[in-house]
Amino acid sequence: MASMNLIARIHAALERRYGVRAARRVLSNPLDDLILAILSQKTGDTNSCRAFQTLRQVLPTWEQAHRAPESAVAEAIGSAGLAQYKAARIKAILRQIYRVQGHFDLTFLRDVSVEEATAFLGRLNGISSKTVARLLLVSLGKPVFPVDAHIRRVACRLGLVSLTLTPKKIQAALQSMVPLPLLFPMHVNLEQLGQKTCKMPTPLCDDCPLSKLCPSTR
Ligand code: SF4
Repeated sequence: MASMNLIARIHAALERRYGVRAARRVLSNPLDDLILAILSQKTGDTNSCRAFQTLRQVLPTWEQAHRAPESAVAEAIGSAGLAQYKAARIKAILRQIYRVQGHFDLTFLRDVSVEEATAFLGRLNGISSKTVARLLLVSLGKPVFPVDAHIRRVACRLGLVSLTLTPKKIQAALQSMVPLPLLFPMHVNLEQLGQKTCKMPTPLCDDCPLSKLCPSTR
């Protein structure tokens, strides 16, 4: 397992590159983030954010989106692509939440255990474990380290985890080695590094803030 010293040095180098992030930013609305995750499938942030904003302008509450025809939701989210498919998923999720809760406020999940929140979100149709982990950290402030393809690649190249581990085991390994206050900033910064520098198939090691710490540097 990586030493605390190595984790601290990686964190410091990433902060020098990307700036200091709060240990735990102001938590965002869990249902907003869940819908945004659906909208972001197979499209970029710009398109999914635009679709989200239009949806909130046309149907300002989740209650209204729940009651609106699927076609109205699809029309509002057109800029995200796959509008019919995504509208159907959004409507299904809203129906499911309303059936279970009778309302659309998921902030109560901040006050339950990680296991309970994971179980609740995991029961929602079509929500991946990756999305659940991200909601746990970003929207609910739980001590979880979500692992997407970028973080998996960077963590493996840095030698923090083995490529042979499953995403679930990589998540558990990173959670055990990253101190609690660093979970959020390290998650966001490693993701950025993966998107901008430690890319597939060829990493841009000459421009990497971690090149002196990385066994895979070229
Ligand atoms: S030095 Fe290269 S391989 Fe290592 S983390 Fe940076 S970009 Fe990735």
